[in-house]
Amino acid sequence: MYEEELKIAIAAVRQASELCQHVRATLVTDETITKQDRSPVTIADLAAQAAMSSILQMTFSDDPLVAEEDTHLLQQEEHAQNRARVFAEVRRLQPHLDDTAILAAIDRGDHAGGPEGRFWTMDPIDGTKGYIRGDQYAVALALIEDGEVVAGALGCPHLPCKTMHNTTQRGVIMAASKGAGAISLSMDGSTVTPLQVSVATSGSEAVLCESVEAAHTRQGRSSRVSEILGVHLPPVRIDSQCKYAIVARGEATTYLRIPSANSTYEEKIWDHAAGAIVVTEAGGRVTDTLGVPLDFSLRRTLRNNKGVVATNGALHDVVIEALAATQ
Ligand code: AMP
Ligand code: MG
Repeated sequence: MYEEELKIAIAAVRQASELCQHVRATLVTDETITKQDRSPVTIADLAAQAAMSSILQMTFSDDPLVAEEDTHLLQQEEHAQNRARVFAEVRRLQPHLDDTAILAAIDRGDHAGGPEGRFWTMDPIDGTKGYIRGDQYAVALALIEDGEVVAGALGCPHLPCKTMHNTTQRGVIMAASKGAGAISLSMDGSTVTPLQVSVATSGSEAVLCESVEAAHTRQGRSSRVSEILGVHLPPVRIDSQCKYAIVARGEATTYLRIPSANSTYEEKIWDHAAGAIVVTEAGGRVTDTLGVPLDFSLRRTLRNNKGVVATNGALHDVVIEALAATQ
């Protein structure tokens, strides 16, 4: 099941990953890219959304799309230069698309989501801060059916292919569909390996990962969780859904995303759908910090969940217990 969907999703994520790497390499240098200059993000985000949206539309023309970006800013006169660059980047890969088609492909992502039927959800660049820094980011695409994630592809263009420590080859795509397991592909698709979470069963073997951005998770509380579990190693801090990727391939046992006590932030479905199915199908478990399953049926956000916990499964209950024992 979902074979065709997965094949197209992987193709879309591959093209968007290539596009993001191309924009980063050609539009900016490490010297000129600054947090103020968000143009490379704008260009790559929107062009990648257009490219993936149009690839999906060619095969699954009836499927709606819930995506992070829209063309509101891009249509303004002051963004004419960025707009031209978006068009050029998309047409480099899909020459048949004219300006109108590209803008329409982006804005097709305005679907509300919800509990019924099927729709795709995408985040063209998850972890924009990592992208700007030249660190980790992800290209995420998932299919949701009646409120459940049933297929997903996660591009990690800058993640070392095999392990974090072996940086000779970067770029990996992970993909999964419900009940069929998860796989890791090299960017060009020439090697495919099954994904399997860590076999660790005790807290002392745990390896935690969390956001680089302290505003996105309570790093202090996760270090108290580490103490309770008897974790030896410091947490791996990386941006984006690459955290799900390293849990899925067994390099980390646990991804903690702990909202601050008074946070009103609602996690977005496109920030978790692809990563969650990859971890689950690699043998892991994904819930919120209270142990409640993530609910993807509530339109664009996970409003009924408190943060996210993804583990190798074996450690899930002890992690949730340790969270309950900390405040
Ligand atoms: P990460 O790289 O894991 O820290 O996650 C990046 C994602 O965090 C972005 O795609 C945002 O959608 C999301 N985000 C933005 N603000 C917050 C917040 N206050 N709490 C949690 N996540 C956030
Ligand atoms: Mg995101």
